[in-house]
Amino acid sequence: MKPSSDRAAWLKGGAARCHNPPDPPPGLPWRLVLLGAPGVGKGSQAELLCERLGVCHLSTGDIFRACRSAPDKQRSPAIRAAMEAMHRGALVSDTTVVDIVAERHKCLHCAGGFVLDGFPRTVAQAEALEKMLDKEGVGLDAVFDYQLPLEVIVARLGGRRVCPACKEIYHVTGRPPRVDGICDKCGGKLQLRDDDRPEAIQTRMRVYEETMAPLVDYYAARGLLVIVPAEGTPGQVYNRAWACAGAIRPGLDADGGG
Ligand code: AMP
Repeated sequence: MKPSSDRAAWLKGGAARCHNPPDPPPGLPWRLVLLGAPGVGKGSQAELLCERLGVCHLSTGDIFRACRSAPDKQRSPAIRAAMEAMHRGALVSDTTVVDIVAERHKCLHCAGGFVLDGFPRTVAQAEALEKMLDKEGVGLDAVFDYQLPLEVIVARLGGRRVCPACKEIYHVTGRPPRVDGICDKCGGKLQLRDDDRPEAIQTRMRVYEETMAPLVDYYAARGLLVIVPAEGTPGQVYNRAWACAGAIRPGLDADGGG
């Protein structure tokens, strides 16, 4: 199997190019947006979509995490402001996020299609994305909105542990590593993500609830919204998402061309 894309063009921006871009899929390339509170399992769904449909995973959170490991001197003032907002669990400003995505507009033409994860997060960002897509002459196929009860989300986030070296994600009860605190894949020391600290979780959930409702309405009004109950294993949620999509827009399924 071809290794998944290194996403160099997306993560590094500028003149960076992917070494192993996804192959064009046999059907039409899918262009999707994923919505859902932090901890709802969007990241796992994005991975499955990439694996099964060959789309490229475009996560704005991953860009900021990649920037964090860059030396401070190489960070622009916008990136520094973004890092500081992220540390507090607050949203990065719309202007900064939109500029960062606009710099990577070529990724919207990825031959494999794309799944946008974590962007847009506000109506202003959705409007900016719509303009960008119009300009690029590409359109969205669907917006999957994964939903879970709040108490399930809080339990999931507080127990999440990430390997800083290879980015593998674990959970203290749901998916523990073989050796406590150590990554199974590369032996890295697992960490609690900065924005998964209890105080940051509270802020993220409050921000999420305030900003999501209008965004959900925005995509519902455009006939793109697919609500997906996110209980169960990643595989179950993946299948449910396509079943929900097909129920809303007949012909929209992972095997078809949309
Ligand atoms: P995520 O991995 O998507 O949960 O993003 C981690 C953090 O990055 C968020 O808590 C925000 O601080 C920041 N971030 C990522 N994407 C966006 C966005 N579209 N708008 C504003 N802030 C963002």
